[in-house]
Amino acid sequence: MPAPKKTLEWLDSHLDARVEELIALSRIPSVSAPGFPAAEVRRSAEAVASLLSASGFEQVEILELEGAHPYVVGEWLGAGPGAPTLLLYAHHDVQPPGREAYWRTPAFEPTRGTDGRLYGRGVADDKAGVVVFAGALRAWLESGVNPPVNLKLIVEGEEEIGSEHLAEFLRVHRERLAADVLVLSDTANLERGLPSLTTSLRGLLNIEVRVKALDHPVHSGLWGGPTPDAASALARILGRLFDAEGEVAIPDFERDVPKLSEKTRANLAALPLDVADFRRDVGVVASASLVAETTAEIFERLWFRPSLAIVAIEGMPLAAAGNQLIAEAAARVGIRMAPGQDPVAMRDRVLAFLEADPPWGVCVEVEAESPVGGWRIEPEGPAYEAAERALRAGYGRDPVYIGCGGSIPFVAPFAEVLGGVPAILLGLEDPLCNAHGENESLDLDDFAKALRAAAHLFSELG
Ligand SMILES: [Zn+2]
Repeated sequence: MPAPKKTLEWLDSHLDARVEELIALSRIPSVSAPGFPAAEVRRSAEAVASLLSASGFEQVEILELEGAHPYVVGEWLGAGPGAPTLLLYAHHDVQPPGREAYWRTPAFEPTRGTDGRLYGRGVADDKAGVVVFAGALRAWLESGVNPPVNLKLIVEGEEEIGSEHLAEFLRVHRERLAADVLVLSDTANLERGLPSLTTSLRGLLNIEVRVKALDHPVHSGLWGGPTPDAASALARILGRLFDAEGEVAIPDFERDVPKLSEKTRANLAALPLDVADFRRDVGVVASASLVAETTAEIFERLWFRPSLAIVAIEGMPLAAAGNQLIAEAAARVGIRMAPGQDPVAMRDRVLAFLEADPPWGVCVEVEAESPVGGWRIEPEGPAYEAAERALRAGYGRDPVYIGCGGSIPFVAPFAEVLGGVPAILLGLEDPLCNAHGENESLDLDDFAKALRAAAHLFSELG
């Protein structure tokens, strides 16, 4: 069932107030990263709590766990014990502002641009998520109708630093947070105005490889020739990672990659992107070729197959270099695992490959950060059908199912604690939003559509 007409009218006529709420929240520099004032994250939690209370949420509380930034929770259980319950998630912490000089307007002074976007740190990721959930409930209540679902909302304070305490938080508050459907608002739309449901995430694995060839750098003229050096050895080790076609050469790198169904393949081919747009958006130089030929293959490689890149490399900076043999060199290899791949087996496979057969017998040390597995759901059943209807009604366009090539640490803890409950991942980022970068922005048209879609979601899932 769509949301009542008067609820939608209330939303439309009070849209400016929602934008003002978003601006007020985004003025608070709630950066959760170490080295930034934790008091601001607390101030942000307090502001979120007041917004939730003002919007009709009850039992609003700031909840704490030792060593974690504060969470805010609230609920509205007016639909009664027989009605379904949604657990809503967003986060109120933000990334550091980055390089100040690159912001066209200050990061924590949210500013409306002439392009219909709101600029400021956190406006898209993820304070918009908080305001959308709060605004949708408020619209129902202020227009004099109760939504036919119960709502529980968690607003996390440490998503941007890896959601380290979330699993514990969910375990501690398991009973209070019990729900029939999860709605997580922190992902992206494939393009502006195109509502997108995310159904898979890739896993993440970072490995450092350190090479030591000498106990100190030496003159390349006096010693070079008979003597191996660390940088050349590292280059050979890294060079072995790819074959001549640009494919990863580690044996079994694609083990356990799920075969895509015909339906998924057709879905990928129908997504609105062409190879030229992808090249332009990513900014690849004209002479380089992509390791994919079609749109479907681009998405398949981004979302459903593992990838590997050297994300850091160090030996000697050019500016400091003399004619010396480098004693030690290091690199970080970053791997995105396909959903379905075993992260521990992948780690062991890559470690063994990097360590094997060191060039000239130099010392090679490898160390892995703890890997995060991927995630994937089949979007089938009444909850996804309801979400499709809500998004179609809110945005006026058919929604698409997409994957995400990145990794979101908060999804696995929810899946673990709440078992097989359907998870609906949506959000307000778009290809122009520059989340995590300078000049983060939110399309205000999409913000209005997302509010309507959320209001519809409450009745469609009821
Ligand atoms: Zn986020």
